[in-house]
Amino acid sequence: MHKLFNQAKPVLEKIERAGFQAYFVGGAVRDYLLNKQISDVDIASSAVPAEIKQIFDKTVDVGIEHGTILVIFKGVPYEVTTFRSESEYADFRRPSKVTFIRSLEEDLKRRDFTMNAIAMDKDLTIIDPFSGRIAIENQLITTVGRPEDRFQEDALRMMRAVRFVSQLSFSIESDTYQGLKDHGHLLEKIAVERILAEFNKLLAGENKLQAFNILRDTGLNEFLPGLKGTGKVLDEWGKLDVSRLKNLMESWVLFVYLLNPADIDSFLRSWKMSSKQMKEIKRYLFYLNLRFKGPLTKLNLFHAGMDTALSIEKVYGVLKDCQDEAAASHTIEKDYRSLPIHDLQELAVGGRDLLEWSAKQAGPWVKETLLHALEAVLEQQAPNEKEALREWLGRCNLI
Ligand code: ATP
Ligand code: MG
Repeated sequence: MHKLFNQAKPVLEKIERAGFQAYFVGGAVRDYLLNKQISDVDIASSAVPAEIKQIFDKTVDVGIEHGTILVIFKGVPYEVTTFRSESEYADFRRPSKVTFIRSLEEDLKRRDFTMNAIAMDKDLTIIDPFSGRIAIENQLITTVGRPEDRFQEDALRMMRAVRFVSQLSFSIESDTYQGLKDHGHLLEKIAVERILAEFNKLLAGENKLQAFNILRDTGLNEFLPGLKGTGKVLDEWGKLDVSRLKNLMESWVLFVYLLNPADIDSFLRSWKMSSKQMKEIKRYLFYLNLRFKGPLTKLNLFHAGMDTALSIEKVYGVLKDCQDEAAASHTIEKDYRSLPIHDLQELAVGGRDLLEWSAKQAGPWVKETLLHALEAVLEQQAPNEKEALREWLGRCNLI
């Protein structure tokens, strides 16, 4: 039995002993059936949040209005969600009202795709009223119920379908696919933060090439932030070997590079991403643009850091269709390791030394001069020693 399910089994047993039902549900069951790695298990139960709180000593209220309680059992957190049906969908978004119910089947019925609507009990017996297992065998993403109803209830499910294509390399069943074509406009009603969460998973997935083809073919891209009329860019993406990009940042950088928006800030802001993610994308783009002028100088390599430099090389390699990725990475690693220093702290001179050696007042020149000293050390024009650097700076009339 999978370790995580084994570890969580006592949680189900404890809920059952209190007289309620409890099952493993959602992505963990799907990934288990797919023999994929599972990172966390979700639990669905007939017990309502107040009842769960009585059963366990340690709980955290994380989303009580949606019926979700975090149970901490033997130091491990588990999300336990009360069986619920969702009603009164307003504005094509999440349900305006959640009704707690005592029926597992009703709970599974409100889930998005048949592959995600499978439950498993503590002994790993599968409960699969919507034939999710067959869908998994056939590698098909199929809505539970009529796609038009399910996408009108919550249009985000369309983005989820495409991100599962990227993550699982499944196909979208034909009626569900037609549903994407017909209901794309409803995405405009969805909070961008929710779309971003799915889009990030799409970009981090293995099969982002096919996922982009589907965005393009169904026209969903027309309703995503800043992507109206960008079909041609999606076509370009489709010609590149994007599967080589293994992390989210690399994919975002390639995507933004191809899009080349007139105003990067406002494009990234339209995705409501965190300022940290925005800053990182812009930092990568900065080095990518430098890379187009030639291999990064030692100073740029130093400032970028090895991980960024490797990622940039990868994105550059995909754009230029360079074949020998391993050799390019190896060169960067070697160049980076051979830098005399890797941190400004390691530089043998500091601002205080410069002020001591010079008659000049403190000012921006101090930082500029330190950068010159840094470059001299990196380019091995001077050794990283205090006296030698003093002499070199003097010779260059910098102090
Ligand atoms: P992952 O492995 O990426 O976490 P997941 O299938 O677990 O994939 P989650 O977003 O964690 O996806 O959602 C957990 C489960 O909740 C899903 O498997 C599905 O059953 C249900 N679900 C999530 N979002 C929706 C939605 N918008 N509409 C209906 N059901 C949903
Ligand atoms: Mg999940």
